[in-house]
Amino acid sequence: MKAWIDGELVPQEEATVPILSHSFSRGSAIFEVMDVVAAAGGEAGNRGTPRPALFRIDAHVERFFRSAELLHMPLPLDREDLAQAVKETVRANALAAGAVKFYGYYAGPELGLIPAEPRARVAVFCFDLEGTFGTAGAAPADPVTVGISTVRKPGPGAAAVQAKVAGQYVNAFLARWEAVQNGYDDAIMIDPAGCVAEGPLSNVFFVKDGLVRTPTLKHALAGITRDSVIEIVRDSRVPFEEADIPAEEATSADEAFYTGSVVRIRPIRAVNGRSLGGVCPGPITSSIRKALDGAHEGRDPRYRRWLTYV
Ligand code: PMP
Repeated sequence: MKAWIDGELVPQEEATVPILSHSFSRGSAIFEVMDVVAAAGGEAGNRGTPRPALFRIDAHVERFFRSAELLHMPLPLDREDLAQAVKETVRANALAAGAVKFYGYYAGPELGLIPAEPRARVAVFCFDLEGTFGTAGAAPADPVTVGISTVRKPGPGAAAVQAKVAGQYVNAFLARWEAVQNGYDDAIMIDPAGCVAEGPLSNVFFVKDGLVRTPTLKHALAGITRDSVIEIVRDSRVPFEEADIPAEEATSADEAFYTGSVVRIRPIRAVNGRSLGGVCPGPITSSIRKALDGAHEGRDPRYRRWLTYV
């Protein structure tokens, strides 16, 4: 696989930074992870044949620029150039489906706390399905068990919640680590007020008596899959609200699921050892998942605007 670095394609293993770089030693690298899907549609006359497409690239590029702004990071390119670089990398690797991860980072060695480099660099990486998930098909999204973490999610004033920046993921790593030590697959992190924030790498939704709810964005990343799910839920006229959800309510939901790029929807089977509802995934989770898969695969004309064919 080849990586794109500031306009050049290089072997992925050569895309490295010094240990003393600000991005490594201070954790200031910003990044995005997005889906490359095999989607039907695209050109007229070629409607049925799946072709590689980027899922919601505009939203990912926009969030990347937002992360850069929050980190005061001067990027060396504009939104259009970045989208072109992503497409070029997917094409250069002949990727049919998988994931793209792109970074903004300071590459030079330095000891200062405020980076002295006038411009950050940009690197784009591709991953195929086999290499990413060890499967020939889409990401595995089997139901998981979760534990409510003692590792709290920092809020505004303590963290740049809306920035996807490497250093922030130590908190996520500790929450996932604790969950796995306790015999769960993953964690639900709560905010300083005791309400649900999100998972280590995903947003979280709950269903109770037919109402779909997700935490507000005070302590959660504005997930792009979260946004897609909200739009799908509203279009399907399923009752929905963003709310402060006390941690106790997580264990009494009828259904729950995580959302995130690549994995899309991951059903939650039990919270803190308590099984949720009956079958998992439950009926509302299943119907949202079906609609989201349809959007990814180019089967629903309403959401075809989310696809950019490579
Ligand atoms: N929250 C966090 C902390 C994340 O890292 C991610 C993954 N980007 C998400 C939520 C889900 O976001 P998205 O749907 O845009 O992948």
